[in-house]
Amino acid sequence: MSHDVETIRAQFPGLAGTANGKPFTYLDSGATAQKPLAVIERMDRFLRNEYGTVHRGLYARSVESTQAYEQARVTVAKFINAPAEKNIVFTMGCTDAINLVAWSWGRKHLKKGDRVLITGMEHHANIVPWQIVREITGLELIACPILDDGSLDMDAFDKLLDERVKLVSVIHVANSLGTINPVKELTRKAHAIGAKVLIDAAQSAPHMRLDVQDLDCDFLVFAGHKLYGPTGIGVLYGKSNVLDDMPPWRGGGEMIEKVTIEKTTFAPAPARFEAGTPPIVEAIGLAAACQWMNTFNWEKIQAAERTLYDYAEAGLATIPGLRRIGTAANRNTILSFTMPNAHASDISSILDLEGVAIRAGHHCAQPVMQRYGVSATARVSLGIYNTQTDIDRLIAGLRKVSELFR
Ligand SMILES: *Cc1c(COP(=O)(O)O)cnc(C)c1O
Repeated sequence: MSHDVETIRAQFPGLAGTANGKPFTYLDSGATAQKPLAVIERMDRFLRNEYGTVHRGLYARSVESTQAYEQARVTVAKFINAPAEKNIVFTMGCTDAINLVAWSWGRKHLKKGDRVLITGMEHHANIVPWQIVREITGLELIACPILDDGSLDMDAFDKLLDERVKLVSVIHVANSLGTINPVKELTRKAHAIGAKVLIDAAQSAPHMRLDVQDLDCDFLVFAGHKLYGPTGIGVLYGKSNVLDDMPPWRGGGEMIEKVTIEKTTFAPAPARFEAGTPPIVEAIGLAAACQWMNTFNWEKIQAAERTLYDYAEAGLATIPGLRRIGTAANRNTILSFTMPNAHASDISSILDLEGVAIRAGHHCAQPVMQRYGVSATARVSLGIYNTQTDIDRLIAGLRKVSELFR
């Protein structure tokens, strides 16, 4: 059976209706994805009938809530083929997960002169935490340059990767460019010199099958809300030996073994990293999103998204003067561009009048903008529910922009 996008669309109430009197055309899933009924209804049911706190209560409702929360961890572990649920730490988001690694692993294991190697195409979430922890540890933050097409400069990577590098922290699919980085190869190279590896999978998790054991990364992070799940929940995957060697970064309830006023001993991972009442409903919503994603054949999803991506690129190529930013051979789901005379925000505002939602700005990747000498780009990002009709509306809108700003 072919991948039936209309059946998928029908499961997303957020896509129905109009915007500015036009059919709502959502092309900003890279910022956040709409939610399928499977997620909305699971969270609704949990809130109505099953809600209780976790890990504390001894009454039936709390025990059941705890089971549902811990079962969500199992579902997420399976989703990325983690060896066990204890490898999964629930966080408040992708940003929060990277901050956890920086504050906990980074503060313990990085000392003055140790290097964290990132790339020139990182999201600010994988730059700023390292700069903040740099103030405390004296670590050096270095970035591997990117080539004109938006791919990673592999020669430069090889040169920068020496024994001073203790962590390679790299974006899987670049949110500002669409570049797919060869993370498995980067991981192999980093491990060869004894460095650990963190993969920022915020943009890849919704679009490709992730297998953390095959990738062999030490950490992998992503956000629930870009994976058709709720906001307020993210995931840190960590190898067991790595998580076990990390101190807590936030203190509070839930993460302890025994507390006296003099001293506290901490619970093992993952509880050690989940201080306070966790995002219970959101974890359950994320598990529902993973289960919903699992109902699809990933090859078919990817083939359909690839076809639509090619269709969108062909459409963009017909707009006079449009400059694509991010044309690496290996790219997907994200299309960034600029147009002559029209600022990215003009493009987005005019498209908005046509009901078409795209992102305009620096995409939390200002170093990428600096690399290309632009202050902002317009960005189209595709989701599982997008159709050729969505792209046709986009291209028609861009023709208007092009005429207005000739
Ligand atoms: C969105 C995004 C983040 C940050 O995710 P939050 O949900 O905002 O915490 C980090 N990295 C990449 C590549 C992203 O696209």
